[in-house]
Amino acid sequence: MSCVSDSSRLNKFLRERYLNLPQGEFCQVTYVWIAYCGMDLCYKTRTMDFTPKTIADIPEWDIIGQTEGFSTEMLLAPVCMFRDPFILDSNKLVLCEVLKNTREPAGMIEHDVYMHKCRYKELHPWFGMEQEYTLLGVDGHPFGWPRLGFPKPQGTYYRCVGADRAFGRDIVECHYKACLYAGIKISGTNPEVMPSQWEFQVGPCEGIEMGDHLWMARFLLHRVCEDFGVVATLDPKPMTGDWNGAGCHINVSTVQMREQGGIEYVLNSIEKLRKRHAEHIRVYDPNGGEDNKRRLIGCQVFSSINDFSAGVANRGASIRIPYRVAQNKCGYFEDRRPAANCDPYAVTCAMARTCMLEGEE
Ligand code: ADP
Ligand code: MN
Ligand code: MN
Ligand code: MN
Ligand code: MN
Repeated sequence: MSCVSDSSRLNKFLRERYLNLPQGEFCQVTYVWIAYCGMDLCYKTRTMDFTPKTIADIPEWDIIGQTEGFSTEMLLAPVCMFRDPFILDSNKLVLCEVLKNTREPAGMIEHDVYMHKCRYKELHPWFGMEQEYTLLGVDGHPFGWPRLGFPKPQGTYYRCVGADRAFGRDIVECHYKACLYAGIKISGTNPEVMPSQWEFQVGPCEGIEMGDHLWMARFLLHRVCEDFGVVATLDPKPMTGDWNGAGCHINVSTVQMREQGGIEYVLNSIEKLRKRHAEHIRVYDPNGGEDNKRRLIGCQVFSSINDFSAGVANRGASIRIPYRVAQNKCGYFEDRRPAANCDPYAVTCAMARTCMLEGEE
């Protein structure tokens, strides 16, 4: 029995006929924003009588929003424009920042505050994030898992191929294409350790762009899943027991780290992160570290939430220095602590504050 209306079963052939109708000079612009506790994505579409060429062509939009149960006026300020991979060119998807009428970031939504703080440029920080997610049926049961009992234990799924190993590949492939079409800086994908768990990578992105592109990539993921009647969850530990959790590793570098001898700056950043472990854990999931308690349990591939650790090629540490980076003595480092449902604006902001802006606030 399905508990969500299943639009995936509607006639896609008929849909195609209507979508192929010419739309003249008109353009459908879909405004996308992050609502509630910085977790849910919302959208609203409007018609323009011209094709926007840059983000500056997209007007702000006053709409009625919901904050803590109250209807309030809010302002959607366009931030980043993408091509719409669902209704195709010349239609657009526009990621927006939510502002109050006074033009302040909508204070109750912490995410917007971070987004504002993060609009810096001069440091040329590059970020790459690895978004892990789990596919579920609309009933909440992991996609492709037996109704009763469990699939074979973990060990044969990670980066593997085959009908008994890869559950839901169509979604991964369609999402990848949709991201490329849209203009999202998606850099790769792979099957994960738990069956029905997958990952895609976005980056390198400079500064605030990391959050913009990852949030829009998440929007596309949910939208693609809808077509297939499947749900993607970013829960950091969707299945209890001996099943891997889901993270959103962040890879970080600055100009100095990328230059010859940059390892010195990598090590320096790691020492700064060591001093602020607890503070970072608080922003690495949307519930102040509570979600990550279920995931960072201290084992081969998950560090412990209570301890900070770092090491070369060590996937059980909080911070990993890739082997090649240690060899070349320059490059980047990876923070493996952020949970799959983290806010990339909050994570990049904390990174910038600790590693790049210390003493400048
Ligand atoms: P892993 O081996 O941890 O699974 P992935 O291949 O999944 O690594 O992801 C690597 C990520 O690192 C990608 O998102 C990529 O964009 C990012 N990345 C690569 N080089 C840099 C760099 N110099 N600075 C920041 N991020 C980088
Ligand atoms: Mn209405
Ligand atoms: Mn990865
Ligand atoms: Mn992974
Ligand atoms: Mn990783």
